[in-house]
Amino acid sequence: MLPDLEHLIALQKLDTTAEAARRTLADEPERERALETRLEEARNAVAAAKARVADNQNARRAIEKDVAVHQGRLSKFREQAMAVKTNVEYHAVQKEISFAQTEIKTLEDKILEGMLEADELGAALKKADADLAAEQKAVEAARKAMAAEHTELNAALERIGRERADLVAATDPALIATYEQVLRRRQGTAVAEAVDGICTICHVRLRPQVFNTVLRNDRIMQCDTCQRFLYHVPKVASQAAAQN
Ligand SMILES: [Zn+2]
Repeated sequence: MLPDLEHLIALQKLDTTAEAARRTLADEPERERALETRLEEARNAVAAAKARVADNQNARRAIEKDVAVHQGRLSKFREQAMAVKTNVEYHAVQKEISFAQTEIKTLEDKILEGMLEADELGAALKKADADLAAEQKAVEAARKAMAAEHTELNAALERIGRERADLVAATDPALIATYEQVLRRRQGTAVAEAVDGICTICHVRLRPQVFNTVLRNDRIMQCDTCQRFLYHVPKVASQAAAQN
């Protein structure tokens, strides 16, 4: 194969790898935000569960105060019942006593209900706490992995930069200039394999004369349609590569 063509193929591989690395690095803030959102949601769930537990406690305390008020009235009415003189008075006090007793019973039922609910809310809070702990662990692991990947990708980019500079230095400068131009215009792909007479990237059929030249890999040829540099992988070699 023509050395400059080999260089272009190698350059393309480096540029594709570098572009993927840069994209992954550029995605880091978004991935970090997604992790922070996960934590935030888990924290909010804990806060909401805590608030429900507190509301339940406050509501029960308020009812307990009401019970105390009714009990106070009840004992007052019971004292009055001892001192009544007439039947009418007696019935009136009995009515008050009965009313206070009913109120107390209703409120005590509510307290019992609230206690049952408190058990459920307590369990829900425990689960939210456990979920938060699990999320914190998972997010920490994801951040560690991201940091390791960050270091790895930056090292790869440095290595690629050096390899790229060596390739560029060893290649015809005019060819490099055209390569860079096609790379920019064609969204990062300036080199294309030609298979069965077709440019595999723009999928347009090459002129037979162009394809026949590409088959030999001994000249710099560009696709008439997309301007990408064309090369050919001999069938036997490509099948062997596919099996590996
Ligand atoms: Zn093409």
